[in-house]
Amino acid sequence: MNFYENKTIVAIATPPGYGGIGVIRLSGSDSLALTRKLLSPQAEVSFTPNRAAFHYLINNDSGEVIDEAIITYFKAPHSFTGEDVVEISCHGSPVILAELVRLLLSFGATPAEPGEFTMRAFLNHRIDLSQAEAINDLIHAQTAYQARVAAKQLRGELSRLLQPIKDCLIEMIVHFESTVEFVEDDLEPLNLEFFTSKLEQSISEIARLISSYRIGRIIRSGVRLALVGRPNVGKSSIFNRLLEKDRAIVTPLPGTTRDTLVETFAINGIPVDLVDTAGIRETEDLVEQIGVERTRTAISEADIIVAVLDAAVATSEKDFDFLEQFPVNLCVINKCDLGIRIPDELIESLSDLYPVIKVSALTGQGIEELRQAIYNQITVGSQSMIGGAIITNERHYLALEQALSALRQARQDLSAGFTEEVVLVNLHSALQSLGVITGETLLSDIINQIFSTFCIGK
Ligand code: GDP
Repeated sequence: MNFYENKTIVAIATPPGYGGIGVIRLSGSDSLALTRKLLSPQAEVSFTPNRAAFHYLINNDSGEVIDEAIITYFKAPHSFTGEDVVEISCHGSPVILAELVRLLLSFGATPAEPGEFTMRAFLNHRIDLSQAEAINDLIHAQTAYQARVAAKQLRGELSRLLQPIKDCLIEMIVHFESTVEFVEDDLEPLNLEFFTSKLEQSISEIARLISSYRIGRIIRSGVRLALVGRPNVGKSSIFNRLLEKDRAIVTPLPGTTRDTLVETFAINGIPVDLVDTAGIRETEDLVEQIGVERTRTAISEADIIVAVLDAAVATSEKDFDFLEQFPVNLCVINKCDLGIRIPDELIESLSDLYPVIKVSALTGQGIEELRQAIYNQITVGSQSMIGGAIITNERHYLALEQALSALRQARQDLSAGFTEEVVLVNLHSALQSLGVITGETLLSDIINQIFSTFCIGK
């Protein structure tokens, strides 16, 4: 993306298809001049920044009115991109929107590349890189929870958290650099304890952020949950029960295997890919064998395995044998409406291994508890993190990992009494890694790669 040509860009900012309104966005110094060419030359229009005003959009070649629109002008630098921006809200007709864009291009506008509006906002320092990424996350959020996490990051939460760490590193770097530069001068001796404790603080804050990535990744990408059990225990019925209420997501996440039945639903805003597997049993039948094989594959790919037993049938330990083949996280005893024939001591021995939930897919009894138990499994060890700053982006996670290892090395070098020059190498490296998250230290091709994942018009 060659941004520095200072062109005025244009794109349709609303999704393709028909809608009540459709928005065209322009950014660049000619935004207003280009927009004026869509208005009647007789109309003496003056645009007031941040005010929306009604206008007729005209094809000045034919003199015909194309549409009615609300036009809003944002004057640089007080706009999303930091440049002059115009938003034209007209009727959401793909034909009208395409016609208006065609005219604006013929007047001299340039088609915006994917993510170019946001990229300009970043390059003009309106937002940092983590905020730019949050815009993409917010737009693509599939659950309200994902949207909340992205909105926090968009408000600069991550940047705010990192700033004191960066300030602290800069302070240390300045001190060490001056010690190196002005060896001859009478500088204050290094307060080792002071710097070690500062390093400790930064290390523990970064380590906390890194550990939030486990739940962050789950919030972003969801988990895969497989229901396993013998045929007829009620797996499909539980599957449908779980989907019934929480079926917030219609489109499955990318990468979903279609071999077994997979649907996505949300528990407390966390996407769950629910996999209904074929039953597990020894069989001579070839087709069934394939089904069982697929089940094993589905299970090996699952993050959470829920074993299902039939309350009315499973009565001896032999019926539980299959459980030992899998790393089961939760056990569900289904068909409790028929009475539980599984001996208490067997249930107790299962409870020692994992939570056991009694349900009836038929009546719905226990399904809420099952949802809660699944949520607990997903968030195990991360409950305290929910609500705080959470790392959801792998790029941020990797940069934090690098910063952490550099800081740990610096701490070790400091306490081993290495020279300032040696300690400085890792302090610089840690600062550099943190800068990668907010975009201060990034190569332009990495920036291009990030923005290329955006849609046009964003
Ligand atoms: P799957 O083979 O494990 O997927 O089992 P299904 O969900 O197809 O259910 C097998 C049979 O058990 C069907 O006839 C269901 O109607 C019945 N079933 C499933 N859950 C329950 C339940 O909670 N109570 C009762 N009474 N029957 C159930």
